[in-house]
Amino acid sequence: MPPLLTIDEALALVLQRAQPLEAEVVLVAQAAGRVPADDVQALVDLPPFRSSAMDGFAVRVADTPGRLRVVARIPAGRPAERALAAGETMGIATGGSVPDGADAVVPIERVEDGGDEVAVSEGVSDQDNIRSIGSDIRVGDPLLSAGLVLGPAQIGALAAAGVAELRCARRPRVAILSTGTELRPPGTVLEPGQIYESNAPMLAAALESSGAEVTRLAAVADDPDAHRAALKQGLEADVLVSSGGVSVGPHDLVRRIAAELGVEEVFWGVAVKPGKPVAFGVRGRTLVFGLPGNPVSALVACELFVRPALRALQGVIAPGPAYAVGRLATPLRANSGRDELVRACVRIEAGETVLEPLSGQESHMIARAAGADALVLVRRGERDPVSGDRLPFLRLS
Ligand code: AMP
Ligand code: MG
Repeated sequence: MPPLLTIDEALALVLQRAQPLEAEVVLVAQAAGRVPADDVQALVDLPPFRSSAMDGFAVRVADTPGRLRVVARIPAGRPAERALAAGETMGIATGGSVPDGADAVVPIERVEDGGDEVAVSEGVSDQDNIRSIGSDIRVGDPLLSAGLVLGPAQIGALAAAGVAELRCARRPRVAILSTGTELRPPGTVLEPGQIYESNAPMLAAALESSGAEVTRLAAVADDPDAHRAALKQGLEADVLVSSGGVSVGPHDLVRRIAAELGVEEVFWGVAVKPGKPVAFGVRGRTLVFGLPGNPVSALVACELFVRPALRALQGVIAPGPAYAVGRLATPLRANSGRDELVRACVRIEAGETVLEPLSGQESHMIARAAGADALVLVRRGERDPVSGDRLPFLRLS
């Protein structure tokens, strides 16, 4: 194995090759999780008219306090037919269009409503409970920047500002391939020597949640022809993610067959535990990740390299991985040669993020990882972290 790269060196090599895919038009209503390819501006003033912030009565400030004649009731969506004159008021709903002539709204709780007449006992201030035109945003003003993932708040903002569709990088097509003669699908009966195939569903879950359109190829045995056929098919995707068969054993065929098919290897081997034998290459614009077979190794390598690549392909400005910081609950051992990602569970104690490492940290122990919602990064060569140390961690979601 060549000298191991650091996590950061390997990530930089991946991101260099993960250029944004071409954009397509997406309906805002279907754009959650997508990434705008352009900056987006508001198409209207928001609010577009002077709107009432309360259920109440539109008044002229100069008429308060006082008794006012109710000349109309204004529901949301139907403006009054005329302006408000001296001595008059109009009932108005939240979101109703404040009539010309009115310069405040008195909340319903603060008037005596006598039907034809209301009494306002206190004076009110100019513009009370009136949302002015464009107080949220003005037409043409910047609403959202390119390269930020759209969440619920952004979708709401786009729709409110009149945006019905926008250009986003298309979703990366990802092919997932598991390799290993021993693998059987869950739901079947295991023969001696066999295990259930768990990497493909795990990786599909991770990558779909990062915006990928995933195709799962049928798992292949450790056989060159089977590898060739499956890798060839997988190379049609934007990203091919295989697991297994990238170590140094005689049955580890992925790198050799990928090379035969024209994949140019960019790196093989990262100073990380678990995940060391991870391989990365390219063929044309297709990114090719050879993840190790051990399920926890595959999970870690996916979080460190594949997920950021998917975000970069979608034009995300900061493709991550995004580390947060928490306090370690129990001591750990630092590895001398490799950065280590330790499965942990996160809890909040007295407002602080506490990281509880799980027992069972070996790379095959995917069942133990079921309790994990974080990967804690322990840098190599540092002193062994003790309880209370602040360490970076990645959220598993
Ligand atoms: P490999 O990287 O192919 O040497 O595999 C390392 C370990 O991971 C072996 O114990 C394999 O049986 C196991 N493994 C490989 N692929 C999978 C998979 N898709 N699901 C579950 N375990 C796997
Ligand atoms: Mg194998």
